[in-house]
Amino acid sequence: MDAYDVIVIGGGPAGYVAAIRCAQLGMSTALVDEYIGKSGKPALGGTCLNAGCIPSKALLDSSEHYDRVRNKYASHGIKTAEIDLDIPTMIGRKDKIVSTLTKGVEGLMKKNKVTWLKGHGQLEAGMKVGVIPTGGKGDKQVYQAKHIIIATGSAPRTLANISIDHERIVDSTGALDFQEVPAKLGVIGAGVIGLELGSVWGRLGAEVVVLEAMDDFLAMADGEIAKAALKEFKRQGLDIHLGTRVKKAEADADGVTVEYEDAKGGHTLRVDKLVVAVGRVPHTEGLNANGIDLFIDESGYIHVDEFGSTNVPDIYAIGDVVRGPMLAHKGSEEGVMVAERLAGKKTRVNHDTIPWVIYTWPEIAWVGKTEEDLKQEGRSYACGTFPMRASGRALAMEETVGLVKVIADAETDEILGVHIFGAAASELIAEAVVAMEYQASAEDLACIVHAHPTVSEAVHEAALDVHRRAIHK
Ligand code: FAD
Ligand code: NAD
Repeated sequence: MDAYDVIVIGGGPAGYVAAIRCAQLGMSTALVDEYIGKSGKPALGGTCLNAGCIPSKALLDSSEHYDRVRNKYASHGIKTAEIDLDIPTMIGRKDKIVSTLTKGVEGLMKKNKVTWLKGHGQLEAGMKVGVIPTGGKGDKQVYQAKHIIIATGSAPRTLANISIDHERIVDSTGALDFQEVPAKLGVIGAGVIGLELGSVWGRLGAEVVVLEAMDDFLAMADGEIAKAALKEFKRQGLDIHLGTRVKKAEADADGVTVEYEDAKGGHTLRVDKLVVAVGRVPHTEGLNANGIDLFIDESGYIHVDEFGSTNVPDIYAIGDVVRGPMLAHKGSEEGVMVAERLAGKKTRVNHDTIPWVIYTWPEIAWVGKTEEDLKQEGRSYACGTFPMRASGRALAMEETVGLVKVIADAETDEILGVHIFGAAASELIAEAVVAMEYQASAEDLACIVHAHPTVSEAVHEAALDVHRRAIHK
C-alpha cells in the first residue's frame, strides 16, 4: 500500500494550496480530486477555477467591455460603428482562461512533486483513504496517510419546489454557459452569484428580474453601502424584488413560468431562463464521514477548531466545507495554516480580516465590521465617508458612483471596518486589510501619503473624515 505524509481530499483553492505548501515543507503529499472539467477530462482547481471565481470574472470582464462600448464611450468622444455580440466566442475565451489555469495547477502539482490521485476519495479507518478511480478505470485503491486534510468544498443549494433541468432552469454553473443572451432572465436570490451573473447577462442585453426572499438587500454588507448599491443596480436595469416567496417554477419548451408571492399578493413571471442562486452547502457526500465518526454539525459543515482540527486526531478540514465565509482566499489561507502547523510552525488565520468582494460594477468590497454589527454589539464607533464623485481620478474616469466608509472605535480609533462601493473596490480593499492586520487607527491611515490622482485617495479622505478632517468633502 502506498503511503504519504499527507493526503488532501479535494483539489480546489483550499486543497491544492494545502498540498503545495505541504510539499514545499518536505512532506510526501497526494491530492485526491474527482472534478471533471467542461472538456470531459479531470481538472484541478475545484469550483473556483472551473465553475466559480475565474469563469464568472472572465464573463464579467467581457460584459463590462461590451457595456462600455455601448453606453460609456460616447461621453469620452469615442464613436463606435455598430457593434455586434458573439456569445460563443465570449464563452470560448472564458473556457480558455479556465483551462490555462487548471492546467497551470496541474503543472504546479508536478513541479512540487504532489501526486494527483484522480478519483473519488473516501475516509477509511486507520488513517487510510480509498480512491475510486474516475470513470470506473480500475478498482478502488487504498493509501495510508499520517495526516489527512479534507477540502471537499461546497455545492449549490437547491430548492425543494424547483428542479434544475440544466436547460431552462440552471444553477450558477449553467449560467456561465448560455450560448445566447436570454431575452428575459429570472434569478432567484439577490446574493453574490445572483448579482454577479445577473449583471453579466443584463449588460449583454437580457432583461433581468431578481427575486429575493429577504426584505433587506445584501444583509451581510454595511447598510449604507447596500442602499447605495441597490439604487445603482436598479438604475442599471436589474429589476430586484425583495421579500418574495417563490412558490414554483416550471420549465416548458419555450421558457419558464415562475409563481411567487410578495406583500402585494401572488404574481406570475415568464422568463426564458431561470438561475437558482440561493446559497451553497458544504459537500461531504460519499466521503464516509460517519464511517470514521467524523463530526459534522447540524448545518452540514465538518466541525473544526480555529486551526482546522476535526474531532478525529490527524484529520483536518479547510475551505467551504468548514465554518466561515465560502471564499477561495479564506480556504487557501486555511490550507497554508494547516500545512505549516503540521510542520511545527505557529501559523494562524485571522478570520476577522478576510476581505469580501462582489464583482458587480461598481464593485462592492469590505473587511471587518459593518455599522449594523457594531450597533448590535453596543460598541461606540465613529464613521468617516467619502463620495466617489468628489475624487478627481474617479471623475476623470467617469466612475463617480459610490463611496468609501471607514469605521473606527470611538475611543481607541482602531479601524473596525472599511466598506467600499466604487470603481476598483476589489483592489482598494487590500490597503484596508493591511491596515487592520496591523491594528492601524483611522489616524494612521489618514497620515499615509496616497498618490494623486488615484481612487485610493477616497480611502485616505474617508479615514480623515472619521475625525472630520476630510479636505475635499
Ligand atoms: P471547491 O473549490 O469546491 O473544491 C472542492 C474540490 O473537491 C472539487 O474539485 C470537488 O470535485 C472535489 N471533491 C469533493 N469531494 C471529493 C471526494 N470525496 N473525492 C475527491 N474529490 C472530491 N470565491 C471567491 O473568493 N471569489 C470569487 O470571485 C468567487 N466567485 C464565485 C463564483 C461562483 C459562480 C461560485 C459558484 C463560487 C465563487 N466563489 C468565489 C466561491 C469559491 O469558488 C469557493 O469558496 C471555493 O472554490 C472553495 O474552495 P474549496 O477548495 O473549499 O472547494
Ligand atoms: P448568497 O448566500 O450570497 O446569496 C443567496 C441569496 O439567496 C440570499 O440573499 C438569500 O436570502 C437568497 N435566498 C435564499 N433562499 C431563497 C429563496 N427561496 N427565494 C429567494 N431568495 C432566496 O449565495 P450565492 O449567491 O448562491 O453564492 C454562494 C456563495 O458563493 C456566496 O455566499 C459566496 O460565499 C460564494 N461566492 C463568492 C463570490 C465572490 O467572492 N465574489 C462570488 C460568487 C459566489
